[in-house]
Amino acid sequence: MCEENDLNRRFKFDFDAPQVSAVDVEKLKAFLMKDEEPTLIFYGGEPLLQMDKIKELIDGLQNVPNIKFRMQTNGKLLDKFDIGYLKKIGKILVSIDGTKERTDFNKGEGTYDKVVGNLQAIRAAGYDGEIVARMAVSGFSDVYEQVMHLAGLTTCADNSRLLPHRPAPRPPAPESAHADSDICKLSYLPCQAGGRSAPGKLLGNSRGVFDSIHWQLDVGFYSCDYELEGIRKFVEGYNKGISKLVDWWVSEIKLGKVWKLYPFLGIFENLYYGRETKLMCGAGHSGYTITTDGNLVACPIMGCMPDFYCGTLDSAPSELREIGPASRCEECAYLKDCGGRCLYVNSVNLWPPEGLDMVCSSVKYLIDLLKGKLEEIRGLIAKCVVSEKDFEYEKYFGPEIVP
Ligand code: SF4
Repeated sequence: MCEENDLNRRFKFDFDAPQVSAVDVEKLKAFLMKDEEPTLIFYGGEPLLQMDKIKELIDGLQNVPNIKFRMQTNGKLLDKFDIGYLKKIGKILVSIDGTKERTDFNKGEGTYDKVVGNLQAIRAAGYDGEIVARMAVSGFSDVYEQVMHLAGLTTCADNSRLLPHRPAPRPPAPESAHADSDICKLSYLPCQAGGRSAPGKLLGNSRGVFDSIHWQLDVGFYSCDYELEGIRKFVEGYNKGISKLVDWWVSEIKLGKVWKLYPFLGIFENLYYGRETKLMCGAGHSGYTITTDGNLVACPIMGCMPDFYCGTLDSAPSELREIGPASRCEECAYLKDCGGRCLYVNSVNLWPPEGLDMVCSSVKYLIDLLKGKLEEIRGLIAKCVVSEKDFEYEKYFGPEIVP
């Protein structure tokens, strides 16, 4: 058990909110109607434990102009949710940490087969939205191998080119899935090098279970898991993996294919356009969590922390309080490109500064790597091997971007 007494002294906590959302749909609708392009993300805990509430919200809000629905889920109940409603949720982030071995180690025996089986089932049932493999990278530094595995389950993957050394394991199809919905039987026609990037051309109904990948480092959320030497070794190994991953990503771009790895896309975009970014997850400026009692707070993990409340459903979206990056980021030379890593971690400071500095060294390392590839990628865009459009992505629907 972790005891965060120091945290309790520094911040106020309010645990009185109900466990399940008590937000009135009409009130939420009135709030969202004031936003020109609202996006509502179902989040938890596990949102699919409240299927009826999700249906009630979709029914009650579907006429809000331009509304988009998104969801973050552990994926275990996806097969139980009405596919008609699921199709109205255009993008889903699903927790998975890589291979069966790694995912089951982190999340419990049988998790990988259950989640991948459910994804096969919803694809077979016609779910065509974006599915993001959302990884937590914790303790192990084999990020390259884990991302490669998930890339092998991704739409447009050409396994023969991608994984000559390590074919993606083929999970057993669930009974409810079509016999021919084998996600590893890829029918993508590889992109053509030397010309404009060819879109993934799929034969029949075959479709990868994932479309994109995002990962975040599981660091700094508790004081009890801090150990400087361990973190140093982890970051060292992680950085090596990131170097390999960036090299692979660029080698694929040379072949005309831009893989949707969110950490790379987000940071690359800032560098390419020379933009000064805010927190790239959107917390506290473009994305707010609606607590179960109707407060708006900067980030889901801060639901019980009134210091980070930014308004209520009675506020106008344009009037919500804006929260900038944590103070430790203010003088950082990388702030313009990074925007500040996890607001919670950098605000509560459960790890000492040298630990957080180690984590930030991995962010700086990634930014420098991508900076080093910038001119090469610019050249490939200029030659129409890929286009600027291939790097576009939707902001603030879940991927934090900075790992
Ligand atoms: S690298 Fe670290 S200190 Fe610098 S802006 Fe990013 S999160 Fe803040």
